[in-house]
Amino acid sequence: MITSGVVKACDDSDIGAQIVAAIRMVVGGRAVALHEPHFGGNEWHYLKDCLDSTFVSSVGPWVNRFEDLLAAYTGARFAVATVNGTAALHIALQLAGVVHHDEVLVPALTFVATSNAIAYCGAVPHFVESEERTLGVDVAALRDYLAGIAERRDGVSVNRFTGRVLRAVVPMHTFGHPADVETLAAVAGEFGIAVVEDAAESLGSTRRGRHTGTFGALGTLSFNGNKTITTGGGGAILTDDADLALRAKHLTTTARVTHRWEYRHDEIGYNYRMPNLNAALGCAQLEQLPVLLAAKRRLHERYAAALASVPDVRLIDEPEGCRSNFWLQTLLLDQSVETERNSVLARTNDVGIMTRPVWVLNHRLPAYAGVPRMPLPVAESLERRIINLPSSAQLALPGAADGS
Ligand SMILES: *Cc1c(COP(=O)(O)O)cnc(C)c1O
Repeated sequence: MITSGVVKACDDSDIGAQIVAAIRMVVGGRAVALHEPHFGGNEWHYLKDCLDSTFVSSVGPWVNRFEDLLAAYTGARFAVATVNGTAALHIALQLAGVVHHDEVLVPALTFVATSNAIAYCGAVPHFVESEERTLGVDVAALRDYLAGIAERRDGVSVNRFTGRVLRAVVPMHTFGHPADVETLAAVAGEFGIAVVEDAAESLGSTRRGRHTGTFGALGTLSFNGNKTITTGGGGAILTDDADLALRAKHLTTTARVTHRWEYRHDEIGYNYRMPNLNAALGCAQLEQLPVLLAAKRRLHERYAAALASVPDVRLIDEPEGCRSNFWLQTLLLDQSVETERNSVLARTNDVGIMTRPVWVLNHRLPAYAGVPRMPLPVAESLERRIINLPSSAQLALPGAADGS
């Protein structure tokens, strides 16, 4: 068992040293990565089956099976697998009606892929504030802001300052913690704005029992190598709407009209379909998901115990009424010690403990420097204070040394 007294007894008052000591209690003395995949099930078996079948590319039974398993797991009526999460977002936004010259509301505190997918549609990201409680969009602040900038015209909201239609909002479930998408969906409804959820980080995370990615018209997942489960590269679109699901499948398969021999494409489509090989890996990974989620929760509890006595830091916990997948464990420095962030990052990485700050806020990236945004004091404060800790499930799988 971990006894939090160990850290207190350490007479080094340096916050970096105390954090290193606490992490060591959880992960032991070896070097640890930020997040590594774990292949502990049928991965080799399914991949061999796929290779033996020669159907390794964009057609094959594993893709359909992966989509069925995803739909069953998330409770979405339909899942459409894609080459990656960014492609899934691109298509989901297009299906939500986002067109050239629209504006799409999105947290400044997100991975750049969310903003890029908006730009791929020819639309302009409009950055919104985050809240400390969930690390997701601050819905109350957004509502007040929209009341000031949005003008209703023919059933849509127009930004009265830019003249562009505010077509959609893309909440993102940061590090797997569910944003308040229920309230957001109600606010978006008031303003005639579509909700497309970026659930890339939150497979396995729920709000009041409902899986993230199923609150909006469409939601998207990612199975990149650093996510909770991986297909090598991959993503998926979730929706309850049969027409949207069909459209998603059509657009991601080069808009080819089904025919025995003819190659006819009825619009500009994309080569975004997940290959069978990746889906075979995904099926094996999905079987492992409950075990991985349990391990990641255990890891969170161990970090919480080890860090309890370190002053001026807090481990982010799951929001009320939610289950988080704890994709990336997150330490939040108090404002009083935020100037220590880089020294904590250096200190941990120096001893082989891979830690990371949050992404540079998207409005400060060159591509998005000039786009509209609401005041972002909380996002900017979070950016200065967040440190992600080693978060791989195998750090707490049964049989793994916990270092205590
Ligand atoms: C991982 C991720 C994506 C999608 O990433 P891909 O690498 O394209 O699968 C999108 N948004 C967020 C917030 C992510 O973390």
